This record gives sequence, C-alpha cells and structure tokens, in this order.
Amino acid sequence: MIHTHTYDALVVGGGGAGLMSAIYLSRDPSIKTAVISKLYPTRSHTGAAQGGICAALANLEEDHPEWHAFDTVKGSDYLGDQDAIEVMCEEAVDVIIELEHMGLPFSRTPDGKIAQRPFGGHTHHFGQGPVRRSCYAADRTGHMILQTLYQNSIKNGVEFFDEYQVVDVLINQGRCVGVVAYEVSTGDLHVFNAKAVLFSTGGFGRVWSITSNAFANTGDGPAIAFRRGIPLEDMEFYQFHPTGIYKLGILITEGVRGEGGVLRNDLGERFMERYAPTMKDLASRDVVARAINQEIREGRGINGKKYVYLDATHLGKDVIENKLPDIADFCRTYLGVDPVKDPMPIQPTAHYAMGGIPTDMNGRVITDASNTVLEGLYAAGETACVSVHGANRLGTNSLLDLVVFGRRAGLDMARYCLEAEIGPLPENPTADIEATFAALLATTDGEPAARLREELQDVMQDEVGIFREGKGMERARVKIRELQERYAKVVVMDKGTRFNTDLMEAWELGNLLDLAQVTTESAINRTESRGGHMREDYLTRNDAEWLKHTLAYRDARGEIELRYKPVTITKFQPKERVY
Ligand SMILES: Cc1cc2nc3c(=O)[nH]c(=O)nc-3n(C[C@H](O)[C@H](O)[C@H](O)COP(=O)(O)OP(=O)(O)OC[C@H]3O[C@@H](n4cnc5c(N)ncnc54)[C@H](O)[C@@H]3O)c2cc1C
Repeated sequence: MIHTHTYDALVVGGGGAGLMSAIYLSRDPSIKTAVISKLYPTRSHTGAAQGGICAALANLEEDHPEWHAFDTVKGSDYLGDQDAIEVMCEEAVDVIIELEHMGLPFSRTPDGKIAQRPFGGHTHHFGQGPVRRSCYAADRTGHMILQTLYQNSIKNGVEFFDEYQVVDVLINQGRCVGVVAYEVSTGDLHVFNAKAVLFSTGGFGRVWSITSNAFANTGDGPAIAFRRGIPLEDMEFYQFHPTGIYKLGILITEGVRGEGGVLRNDLGERFMERYAPTMKDLASRDVVARAINQEIREGRGINGKKYVYLDATHLGKDVIENKLPDIADFCRTYLGVDPVKDPMPIQPTAHYAMGGIPTDMNGRVITDASNTVLEGLYAAGETACVSVHGANRLGTNSLLDLVVFGRRAGLDMARYCLEAEIGPLPENPTADIEATFAALLATTDGEPAARLREELQDVMQDEVGIFREGKGMERARVKIRELQERYAKVVVMDKGTRFNTDLMEAWELGNLLDLAQVTTESAINRTESRGGHMREDYLTRNDAEWLKHTLAYRDARGEIELRYKPVTITKFQPKERVY
C-alpha cells in the first residue's frame, strides 16, 4: 500500500544533527515539520558519543576560537575549508551555552562552570601543548545531547515517523520535492512531498569489519543521494580511531587519554613519545592510529598480537569511576578487565566519515565545483561534508559540527520554506524502489546478504584501511565488483511485509557496496598521503597536486567519475604537520 503525506520540511534522521535542525524549524509553528527515522531517535549513534563536544569557552585556562580553528585546520591536514572552520569555531561558544540552556547536564568545575578536558590535537597558542577545550557530561556526552535535543523537539511539537526507513529521494525539475520511506512494521511505502528535505542519516562505519559504529550506520543517505546524481566529496578520507576494544571495535573514548591515560607496547614503552614529542598520546587520531599499527607491525604488539595497551591504572579509582564510568563498565563487561587495575587491550577501529554529501555553510547540498545548489535538498552531520574535517577530524569536533551546522541548516530551511511553493512529485514516485525491492525478493536460491557483507568488510579492512597501497586497493576494486555481481542474486529469505529486517539489511548492503566502491576509487586516484588517507606507495603529502577536494559522480553507465574542487584557505597556509 502507498500513502502520501505533505509537509513543509522533512528531516531524515533523528540523531544530533537532525534534531537540532528540527528544533530550529519547529520554532515557527507555520512550518509543518516531520522527522523520519529508521531508529527510535534516542537510539541514534549520537547517543553513543562519549568524550565530549569542544568550544573555546576558556573555563579553566586561556583559549580562543582562533586557536581552535588553527587546530582544526592542522588536524584536517589542511584539506578543511577554512571559512567553514572559522564559522564552526566561532559559533561553538554560543551553541554550547544554548545546549546548556536547553537543559543539558554538563559535568562541572568546582566553581560551577561547564567542565573541560584535553582531547587529541586541541592545543593552546597554535600548537604549544594540550588545552582543556572538550565540554563533557562524564563519558556520556552524546547520550545527554541526544536526550536534551529529543525532549526539546517534542516540546516544540515536531512530528515523528519512527521506524520509517527512507529508501529514495525525489528530485523533479531540478529540485528536491520529497522522499519515499518504507514503514518497517507494515512494509507499506510512504511518499512524502515537501519543500525542503534534510539528510542527517549519520555515518557508514559498517563498511569495515572492525568498527565503533552501530549496526544501523550503513550510509543510506549518501548512497541514495549518489544514485540520484549527487556527488560525494572526499570519500577516501575515513577515520580510524586509535582505541577500539581488541577484536570488538567498541570505542574507548579519547577522553581516557585526555584524563591522562597512556598507550604502551609489549615492552611497556610509552611509544607515542617517539612519534609525537609534544602532544604524545594526544596527537591527532590519524597519527596515533598509524603509530599503533607501526608498533604492531614491528612486533611490539602485546605478546606479538595485533593490539597494544591503553593504560589508565595510574589515574586512580576516583577519576575512572567519576569521569569515565561507562568505559569502566564496557571493559568489565566485554573484556573482564578492570581498568582501575589492568591496562585495556586496544586496536584502531573504523570510526568516522570525513567525506559525504557536499554542502555549503547553510547545509544546502551543492553539486559541483562552482557550488551550484540543488534547490530544496540539505545535509548535516556525519552524512554531510561541509568540509570542516578535511582529511582527518579532531575528537569532539563532530558533536560540534552536528549542532552548529544542524542549526544553520534548520534556519536556512525555515527561510526557504517561507519563500518556496511545494514542488510537484515526479510521475510514479515509488516505481524505482518497488522494482529494487521486487528484484531483492524474487531470488530464491542465492547467497545471504550477511555473507557478502562480511567479505566486503574484510577486504575493506585489509586493503582500504589505515595503510593503503595501489596493488591492495586494486584487489579491493576487483573484489567489490565481484560482490556487486553476486549482490544481484542475493537472497532475502523473509518474503513477508511485517518487520522485514531481512529485506532492509539486503537493501542496506547495496548502500555499503556503493559507498565502498566510491571510497576505493577516490582512494586509488589520490596518489599522496594526507590525514586519514595513508598510502605506502606515496608516503608524503603533495600540496602541489592534491590540495583539492574529490567529487565522485556516478555516470550513466554506472561507472564512477572523479572531479576535483579547490580548498578554501583563509588564514592558515599549509605547513608540515608535527605534533
Ligand atoms: C562510539 C562513538 C563515540 C563517539 N564519540 C564522539 C565524541 O565524544 N565526540 C564527538 O564529537 N564525536 C563522537 N563520535 C562521532 C559522533 O558521535 C557522530 O559523528 C555523530 O553523532 C553523528 O550524528 P548524526 O546526527 O550525523 O547521525 P546519527 O546520530 O548517527 O543519527 C543518524 C540518524 O539517521 C537515521 N537514519 C539513518 N538511515 C536512515 C534512513 N534510511 N531512513 C530514515 N532514517 C535514517 C537514524 O535512525 C538516526 O536517527 C562518536 C562516534 C561513535 C560511533
């Protein structure tokens, strides 16, 4: 059955970015706003964020938005757009106060201000050592943000379509006019006609086998957009977080190192002193993740295995129980290790997409190097690429990105909704997705999606992971093509309509395959090392040729075409990165 709805504004995704924009949209009651989310909003991945959200509040020591901007630019390996970074770091201060006023229960300093702690890559005086910039609510910062934003959206009367999965975006006469969603409980399709649509569907860590990301992080938004002709920006830059629990990938926040935790190899050495003499364990994530892998490769993993230790035993029970309670719980539950007494076994874990749907600073989706706006379509949060993170994101800058650019997108959508008329739907808006589902359901004797997914995740982990080189990525390219062919015959065992998660998982696998392909093609073409993209056959950064953003398109034959776009530089000229 097909249902039709009409709204002014649609927000696809109920995480931090989506809810922040919904709050801003719903401040004007004349703008009819709905959030569509495949998960209950409070189960979004934002709720898993632990360590903090940064702003140069200077609550504990001198700090300035300009220092924050410099750190972000340097962290991005000079690929971030500096105009957007300046906006983010300036607006950070006031958006944190706004969150506090909405009711967010931040941890406090003894004199009652918002508490702040150090985080990787955040420095004072342009690189002179760690600064306390990350605001936190113990190690449950994302949980508190998500709950606060959800409560405020409910208060403002935002309508929610929970457990509705958006499966297509409707673009007609050059403008976005709505989306198609699959109601998970019934299998019905819903056509949403609207003036403005925001994609805030989060990340896609599920492309890799060891990941900190939730099961739902399958990159639906960027994959849908890409198939409708919208480019994806800088997809070769994917962040591996240094400290995931060994084999499981579950995140141990950088806040542990912010509080004084250190990394040790099999010899008990604090090896980061060798790789980053000033910032040591608080160097930026790409640097620390590579150092860990280097130690492992050179045989100094613990007992020669593929992990090292994160040691917090010297911090004492009080710090661990009060400032890192969830981490302590995770370690006891999943590892049987008590971080008060024993070091934690960790390895890098696939964590964050720097790339995504290209947008301007107001969340408007842009489709080419001259920043042509696709009317009516917006993106914010991890799904979007503004680009404030460039080639490598600093810890705590993502939660900040969500609220700063979620707010800006909400404001611009509100403006647009008051000016624009609703656009006509294309003819037969559900035809394409119905054909896709029919094909997935038609097969009776193919392979299960889970098998193909595992093979994809393994090849991406091995060949398009922390270290990359041309030959390995060629192997990944061939494997992805093979998997795409096998995907045409994937079997969905459940042929029913009620909670057919089997069908949704198979459809999501199609998204993972497309995103893996774009990531690999973008990475093969970029013959340099920068931030999260580390090539062993091109070891250095090459600004003369590669100080530019990638824009990947799908051409009419389904092949990927790569174009490039200049980086915006304002104050900070590219320099060698030393921590
Ligand atoms: C374990 C962990 C810890 C982290 N810690 C920090 C931290 O301390 N500080 C920091 O700055 N960053 C941190 N990050 C990164 C940060 O949390 C994420 O980048 C950010 O929360 C993403 O928010 P979002 O709003 O873009 O998406 P999400 O919060 O992931 O929300 C995505 C939403 O989209 C919906 N959705 C997805 N697909 C569809 C679809 N097809 N149809 C309908 N709805 C859909 C989902 O239901 C969900 O509501 C962490 C990440 C992880 C994984």
